Amino acid sequence: MPDHLFYQSAVKLPTIARAQGVYAWDVDGKRYVDACSGAIVAQIGHGHPAVRAAMLDQLDKVAFAYRTQFENQPALDLAQRLVDLGGGRFDRVFFSSGGSESVESALKIARQYWVCRGEPQRKVFIARKPSYHGATMGALSMTSYTPLTQPFAPMFPLYPKVASPTQYRVPAGRSVAEHALACADELEAAILEAGAAHVAAFIAEPIGGASTGAEVPHAGYFSRIREICSRHGVLLILDEVMTGMGRTGRWFGYEHWDVRADIVCLAKGLGAGYYPVSAIMTRAEVTDPVLAAGGFQHGYTYAGNPLASATALAVIDVIEREGLVENAASTGAYLLQSLEQLASRHGFIGDVRGRGFLLAVEYVADRASKEPFAPALCFGDAITRAARDCGLIVYPRKSLMGETGDHTLIAPPLITTPAQCDEIVDLLDAACTAVQRTADA
Ligand code: PLP
Repeated sequence: MPDHLFYQSAVKLPTIARAQGVYAWDVDGKRYVDACSGAIVAQIGHGHPAVRAAMLDQLDKVAFAYRTQFENQPALDLAQRLVDLGGGRFDRVFFSSGGSESVESALKIARQYWVCRGEPQRKVFIARKPSYHGATMGALSMTSYTPLTQPFAPMFPLYPKVASPTQYRVPAGRSVAEHALACADELEAAILEAGAAHVAAFIAEPIGGASTGAEVPHAGYFSRIREICSRHGVLLILDEVMTGMGRTGRWFGYEHWDVRADIVCLAKGLGAGYYPVSAIMTRAEVTDPVLAAGGFQHGYTYAGNPLASATALAVIDVIEREGLVENAASTGAYLLQSLEQLASRHGFIGDVRGRGFLLAVEYVADRASKEPFAPALCFGDAITRAARDCGLIVYPRKSLMGETGDHTLIAPPLITTPAQCDEIVDLLDAACTAVQRTADA
């Protein structure tokens, strides 16, 4: 049969037939453990009956309603629910469908906020390197990963990028704490270079996802970032597309350090793979000037539709009812420990890190010097392929860290049990052994 579909690459993949809980089966009947929730999306696992029931119930009422024609109760309820989960930090919610759309919405509300505040020259957005914030032109311009940005470079400004705080590769002579503060201070230097009066916002993930491989910043990092943003009147946008909705063992990643963000982006785990749903949460101080000036000049056809909102409400109910945030914290800690033990069996595992169920294994050519593998070796991709052969799905398919190293994200659904963690580690062990055997041959 001719193959008309195209994606980023021509790699042939197995065709999925069905999925249940943390497992998926292909059309040949082979079983896989989904150790990365797809793309860190399937927060409550696959095939949850409560979500199915809520979706069918909503489908029987109304699936779609357009925001300029009707308000809909599920959207109102979902906005309230997110505000409640935010513990009063946010009081305004804007819906979209995917992660890139939510980042795009954050950038555009920030720009329009400054226009309405009489500071239209605040147009510069500062992000970090490495980083990934999405595929659309605006979100991509926040991203720092050359293979993704280079083909489109003249079409958007190459905004300043400052260092992501790593705890793994700290420059000689600096403690981890000093390095975290030095990375934060790079933001201040970039703001001063652009001219503080020209900077709209700084965007960062609380815990790095695909770009850094679950890099957890040192505790001092975000309080210094907040201080710098406040000093220069720069908005702080936290991209919680990957870290939100319980992924890191808290509802939101910012809770780990009590970071006060101006705008938070949510997607992935919000719809948990059952329906595309994304959102930004912000505060009336940000939206009031915009609404007073005639409204936010931005919106998506599918934003906040009844089916999307009912789905997300059902997902949140499941996360709450089944104690999945708590499970991500406790079973995630167990999985981290088991991965550390795995590292002792494979010399090319340089680091194991992360929080909750957002964990990563980084591979290095030399453990002592932390020298990454040459990008041409595509070592992380070899692990991903070997893992798939062993019946384990890990993320990403191609390492986004290609410029600085290789890693595998291990981020299973939040329902994962300790026994299933053992299964994940055993299969990853087998994949590592297979890659080592090929390298030795
Ligand atoms: N932001 C972060 C941190 C992400 O990890 C991603 C996707 O991986 C996005 C934004 C973009 O989300 P989407 O692919 O749903 O557009």
